Amino acid sequence: MGTDLGYVELRFYGDLAALSGTALTDLPVGEPRSVKDAIEAVGVPHPEVALILVDHEPVGFDRLVRGGERIAVFPPFHSLELAGVPTVFPAPVAPRFLLDVHLGTLARRLRQLGFDCWYRTDADDPELARVAVDEQRILLTRDRQLLMRREIAHGYCPRSSDPDEQALEVVRRYRLYREVAPHTRCVNCNGLLYPVAKADVSDQLPPATRAAFDDYARCDGCGQVYWPGSHLEALEGFLDRVTAATPGP
Ligand SMILES: [Zn+2]
Repeated sequence: MGTDLGYVELRFYGDLAALSGTALTDLPVGEPRSVKDAIEAVGVPHPEVALILVDHEPVGFDRLVRGGERIAVFPPFHSLELAGVPTVFPAPVAPRFLLDVHLGTLARRLRQLGFDCWYRTDADDPELARVAVDEQRILLTRDRQLLMRREIAHGYCPRSSDPDEQALEVVRRYRLYREVAPHTRCVNCNGLLYPVAKADVSDQLPPATRAAFDDYARCDGCGQVYWPGSHLEALEGFLDRVTAATPGP
């Protein structure tokens, strides 16, 4: 493999193989094409890629591939310093997200963890791409064609179809273990929660709640009132999973 001049050899490392379906494959060269196109032709969107080596030399996305070359494609890795190596990964941005329409449950999960999540049920691809660029948000989508749009710099395709597992993937991928801040953001509208006096909200509370709790918070966006346990029942077990996944100091 890799020596046939009609093909390039693509080798995927880490969890990129889950996207390409194989760790090693040959791709016909055909028309001159960029490394970006070659990698995406087998299903790996460019925002997933941190480092590309062609015959052991680091290259950028626009480098044209030639038959017989061996292309090694790496995801971001956190345990290895890459000082001085020209990666294709853009400078990191703050962990503010933008979620595709099919990831509504993940949006609520990430908001429960305190993360800023832009989410609309009616957003189309051009709008998602525009907001990702304008607001420098990290695009989360399982639509790989959307992630392959050239203007998208920061993005991730959740591998799992389970929202809890997806949330853990995001925490792991962006190293957010210590930025988790439960009970700070509204799951419905992404607003921030502020403490509010019990007396100010007591007429909005079910009697059993009023009797059981003294600490309340209100969303600055939609006015929703929260108390310990409200909308967060399933969160505690999940937080244990985040803690269990957190690497030691
Ligand atoms: Zn709200």
